[in-house]
Amino acid sequence: MSNTEKVIIIGTGAAGLTAAIYVARANLSPLVVEGPLGGGQLTTTTLVENYPGFPDGIMGPQLMDDMRAQAIRVGANIISGMVTKVDLSTKPYKIYIDGEGKFAHTVIISTGASARYLNIPSEKKYSGFGVSTCATCDGFFYRGKDLIVIGGGDTAMEEANYLATIANKVTIIHRRKEFRASPIMLDKAKNNPKIDIITDSTIDEYLGDGKVITGARIKNLITGEMQDMRIDGVFLAIGHHPNTELFKGILDIDEQGYLITQETQTKIPGIYAAGDVQDHRYRQAITSAGTGCMAALNAQRYLEMENLI
Ligand code: NDP
Repeated sequence: MSNTEKVIIIGTGAAGLTAAIYVARANLSPLVVEGPLGGGQLTTTTLVENYPGFPDGIMGPQLMDDMRAQAIRVGANIISGMVTKVDLSTKPYKIYIDGEGKFAHTVIISTGASARYLNIPSEKKYSGFGVSTCATCDGFFYRGKDLIVIGGGDTAMEEANYLATIANKVTIIHRRKEFRASPIMLDKAKNNPKIDIITDSTIDEYLGDGKVITGARIKNLITGEMQDMRIDGVFLAIGHHPNTELFKGILDIDEQGYLITQETQTKIPGIYAAGDVQDHRYRQAITSAGTGCMAALNAQRYLEMENLI
């Protein structure tokens, strides 16, 4: 079919845009579908200091603007829209963008994951200004400070242990007495002299000066008692939602909702996934970009093998 795209890329985070750059440079003119949060999770961060090539760091939104401009310069066609449905049962595959079907020989899924928030008042205002969802990204800015980590899973334990190497003190606040974290990770946190753990509690409100947070109001969920704590930052480690709703019943998804891939290949030939939608482990900009590159090269090889280019 002459109106069939060679590659449709869904999502414009670090994975999708890196895939777009590689696919476009292979002369395959990718159609890239950009959803409402163009640029992905990095647009909600501030200074990114762990993406190689920027000795002074780069602001997350700027990094994504630059990746987008680079993708367009080398020939990617970026359109805004929501993918509302996919039909991967017959070739060419059909991707519905805002309800309108488009055919594609290959698809790269890079719909990302969204960090969960507590969704309490003032959280949006202080996001990036004391409220963070990534210790590896933002921990560095809290040298010698007092921090809270929210959550009772492995991520919370890992982030608390990591932050304790930088901060003065870390308090883990968890909503129950029982922990989802593996015993070994929990013990490591419990045995760390710089980490305190408060259970049966949550943050009821962020306290701040309007620009950055300066404290948090902690609520005991059993007694209802409130206590104000002076702190410099809160790291939320309460999980992520991979954006995989479109693919339920179509592709293999693990019990946490992530797409299951083998070197970016899903179970359907020509359908690849890259970035956080298939990775709950590393979740870094550079690993997303890396898997975006892998997906693009795999798509290109598939098109060659199938004599579609
Ligand atoms: P999990 O889903 O395992 O844990 C999320 C935690 O956040 C739970 O303790 C949950 O509480 C809490 N939580 C969820 N929503 C809220 C809320 N609204 N308010 C307060 N607390 C909330 O997610 P993780 O990111 O920790 O882990 C994801 C996966 O990645 C797991 O399989 C984990 O084992 C794995 N992982 C492995 C690591 C390693 O091996 N090194 C490191 C990091 C992650 P509750 O328990 O009450 O539901």
